[in-house]
Amino acid sequence: MSTQNDPMGQAILDFEKNGIDQDIIVSSDLCEDDVISSAYLFRSFEDMPQIEQTALSRSSGKILDIGAGAGIHASHLKDQGMDVSCIDISPRSISYLKKNGLDARVANFFDLKDEKYDTLLMLMNGIGISGTLSNLENTLLQAKSLLNKGGKILCDSSDIKYLYTDDDGGMWVDLNTIYYGNFKFQMKYNGHETAWFDWLYADFDKLKEAAVKTGFSAQKIMDKNDQYLAELIKL
Ligand code: SAH
Repeated sequence: MSTQNDPMGQAILDFEKNGIDQDIIVSSDLCEDDVISSAYLFRSFEDMPQIEQTALSRSSGKILDIGAGAGIHASHLKDQGMDVSCIDISPRSISYLKKNGLDARVANFFDLKDEKYDTLLMLMNGIGISGTLSNLENTLLQAKSLLNKGGKILCDSSDIKYLYTDDDGGMWVDLNTIYYGNFKFQMKYNGHETAWFDWLYADFDKLKEAAVKTGFSAQKIMDKNDQYLAELIKL
C-alpha cells in the first residue's frame, strides 16, 4: 500500500463514515509514542476542556480558526451566529468541513496575507504551529499582520516542564538542548503518515516575552493541569 500524508484528515473522514474511534499515532523525538483518538477530534462543547470553552466565549468579530481539524470550535461559533472561517493544511479535513457547511479552505497559516480578522483561534496546543521557540516571534508577527488593531489571538499550550521534573522538583532537562518545549513529531494513521515536523510547547513566560516584543499585550486567562489559555491583544 502506498503511503499518503494526511493521517488527521483520513481519520476525520473515517470517523464521519463509520463512527469507530481509532488511534492516530503520534511519535516524538523526546518521549514515548502518544495517541490522539479520532473521536476526540469530534468532542462536543460539553466535552471540551474548560480552556477551550473559555476561548470560544472570548471570541468575537471576524474569526479565523487556524488548524481547524474537524471544525468543532468553528461549528460551535457558527451555531452562535458568529462570523467564522477555517483553514487547515489537511485537504481531507477541509473537504469534511466544507461538506458540513463551514467556510473552509486548504491554507498554511504562514502563507496568508491581505486578510484581517478580530480573533485568531489556535486551539489544542495551537501555538505549537510555531515549531520552535526561535520561530515564535515570527509566528506572532505573522498573526499580527492578520489582525485588526485590538484584535486577539486565543491560544492554548502546555507547559511541559513537568516532563523533566524529578520527584524533588528539580529539573533534569539537558541544558544543551535549545528549549525543552521544542519537539519533533510524526503522525501515522492507517497507511497515512506525515514527515517529521517541528511542534512547540511554549511556557507562558516565553510566550509573553515574545508577545510583548512583537506588539501584543499578553494575559494568561486560565491555567489548569499544566495547560493554559493565553489571550494576546494587538496593541
Ligand atoms: N483545532 C482542532 C485540531 C487540532 S490538530 C482541534 O482542536 O480539534 C492541529 C491541526 O492544525 C491539524 O488539523 C493540522 O493539519 C493543522 N495545521 C498544522 N500546521 C498548520 C499550518 N501551518 N497551517 C494551517 N493548519 C495547520
